[in-house]
Amino acid sequence: MKRIPYGHQWIDSGDIKAVVDTFKTGWLTQGPQIADFERALCRCTGAKYAVAVANGTAALHLACMAAGLKKGDEAITSPITFVASANCVLYCGAKPVFADIQDDTANIDPAEIIKHINNRTKALIPVHFAGHPCDMKEIAKIAKRHKLTVIEDAAHALGAEYRGTKIGSCKYSDMAILSFHPVKHITTGEGGAILTNRKDLYEKLSMLRTHGITKDPSKLERCDGPWYYEQHFLGFNYRITDFQSALGTSQLKKLDRFISLRRKISSAYDKAFKGTPAGFLAERSGAKSAKHIYVVRFDFSKARASKKDVFNFFLDNGIGVNLHYIPVYLQPYYRKLGYRKGSCPKAEKYYGEAITIPLFPSMTGAQASKVISTVKKASAKFFSKEK
Ligand SMILES: *Cc1c(COP(=O)(O)O)cnc(C)c1O
Repeated sequence: MKRIPYGHQWIDSGDIKAVVDTFKTGWLTQGPQIADFERALCRCTGAKYAVAVANGTAALHLACMAAGLKKGDEAITSPITFVASANCVLYCGAKPVFADIQDDTANIDPAEIIKHINNRTKALIPVHFAGHPCDMKEIAKIAKRHKLTVIEDAAHALGAEYRGTKIGSCKYSDMAILSFHPVKHITTGEGGAILTNRKDLYEKLSMLRTHGITKDPSKLERCDGPWYYEQHFLGFNYRITDFQSALGTSQLKKLDRFISLRRKISSAYDKAFKGTPAGFLAERSGAKSAKHIYVVRFDFSKARASKKDVFNFFLDNGIGVNLHYIPVYLQPYYRKLGYRKGSCPKAEKYYGEAITIPLFPSMTGAQASKVISTVKKASAKFFSKEK
């Protein structure tokens, strides 16, 4: 039986044509499509500058470098995220610190952030989990008070809105990063971007993407001739290709439709699960979630079976469930660094309850109905009072 996946890309003939047309131009990398894609990302989010890179993790790494994170510094992020949101801090020799989540959205709690701030704290990395914007106004206030750089991990949140502004506009942050992995809102295969309104960060990020090299005459210390370039600091090759960027620009045209389809399916789920043992994440007022994933939450202490059994029930019934996320600090690598179980109780409780069910824009009505009926079947089988 082919399972309904938890997420899936949607590539149409327009996307394929955009990629093939790019091959015909002779450009494979560093051609005009990259700048086009960056301009389209700025138009779509309202950010002044965009730097497209090889993947979302590279975007996070460069953002942390541009923020000046180094050994002895700390950056606060959420435990309920993909490991990349914390690994990027380690790449810079700094220490990730995990602040517990809000129960209703599973987003980082500003009140918990405050508890972890000390004189080593340099940056905050809020993650808009499942596409729901974090409490950015509060986070920006904390950052201003303590002079911290804010990097939004918006990998889930392209197309989301917060208090009337688009996520990615960087109204409440210094930088925001995106990922274009196939399960995300738009895809380039692998790909990512950093958005910012600050020219200094934009210039730094552009150079970091290519080894810290510049050819800009106004920046050179000297000029030996037309071949000349200079490396000013240590960067990487984190470039994206021209044909990936063409795919990104083509996909971006469909973002609004993708988001509205996701929101439609998601509200059908909400409606169907209301009053059942399957809880779901809230959408707060002032926030428009991009609905990257749909998480149902069960209180397994009231179940007749373990979480593993319920999870397997979904898999056996053709529903490709997943789990987002294992609290990052519970990973063996982080445990070896000294992080301890029990440090974020709400995140651990959430981990015990959460199951991600399928949600993607090309889902058919029949697929959505099957997901709903299977959640209801699982609720009746494992959670009903009568035996
Ligand atoms: C996908 C993702 C990333 C990393 O993006 P890649 O493009 O896979 O490197 C970072 N943070 C979050 C929250 C993600 O979901």
